[in-house]
Order: sequence, then C-alpha cells, then structure tokens
Amino acid sequence: MSYRCPRDGSTLVSPENSDRSTFSRHGIHHCDKCSGMLLNADAAMSIISQDKLNHMHISFEQEGAEVDLDCPLCDSHMRVREIVFTRLDGTEMDPIELDGCPTCASFWFDAGELQRISPPENGDDAHREANTLSIVLEMLFHLPFVIR
Ligand SMILES: [Zn+2]
Ligand SMILES: [Zn+2]
Repeated sequence: MSYRCPRDGSTLVSPENSDRSTFSRHGIHHCDKCSGMLLNADAAMSIISQDKLNHMHISFEQEGAEVDLDCPLCDSHMRVREIVFTRLDGTEMDPIELDGCPTCASFWFDAGELQRISPPENGDDAHREANTLSIVLEMLFHLPFVIR
C-alpha cells in the first residue's frame, strides 16, 4: 500500500522502505521531494494515549480551519490548526500550523513548518532529520495539553 504526498503527489516512502531508522521505528511515511512527514494514528498512539488522540481528533473537527489538503490515508479533507507551544522556560514559540485528519486522526507535518521549528544546523542530513523528528515527537507528546 503506498500513499501520495498531499502537497506534490509524490509517492511517500513507507516506514518499512525507509533506510532511516528514525522513520521506520516510529512508523512515519515521508516525502523525499518536499520532506513532509505523515504520522498515522497507530504511530501517534505509540506516543500518546487513545483518549488523548480522540480528543485531538474532535478538536480538529470542531475548531480546525478547512484546508485544501486531502488526507493521504483516507482522502478526507484535512484541517489545520495553529498551535502555540510553550518552552520549558515559559516563553511561547512562534505558532506553527499542524494539519490533522478528523476522520482517521493522522497528522501531516509540512516541511516548511518543520524547518521553522528546527532550523538547519551544521551536520549531515540524517542527523538533522533525527533532530527534526525528535522535535515532532516532543510536539505530539505536548499537543493534548496545548489543544483545548
Ligand atoms: Zn511532498
Ligand atoms: Zn484521514
């Protein structure tokens, strides 16, 4: 089963076919062309509980703005929410946009948004990806507390 990138239509690289362990370990499909990442509900559930996932799911349905993006997994229209994260020191990060599917509870992380929260640093691509991914996972972990 292969899925297509909602931005550019490229076939997403499945976690099983990824040569990057961070992607395969976390069940993340990614786009080689735009570097976007797709996290399905199963993958998200390895990080957050079913209850919290359901809650997020509903919040995207009720409060998310419609966006011209079809879910790669189920073809529903995705919705976008602006999320503001608070750093450990209490200051707020710039808002980032997160696309979520209200039907199957998957999330799409746009490459541009990922770059904004994880600025390029010196180091190889694999290192940068691992770094971005750790930020994504941390974000997901905090999402249920940020979304109300
Ligand atoms: Zn893409
Ligand atoms: Zn979906």
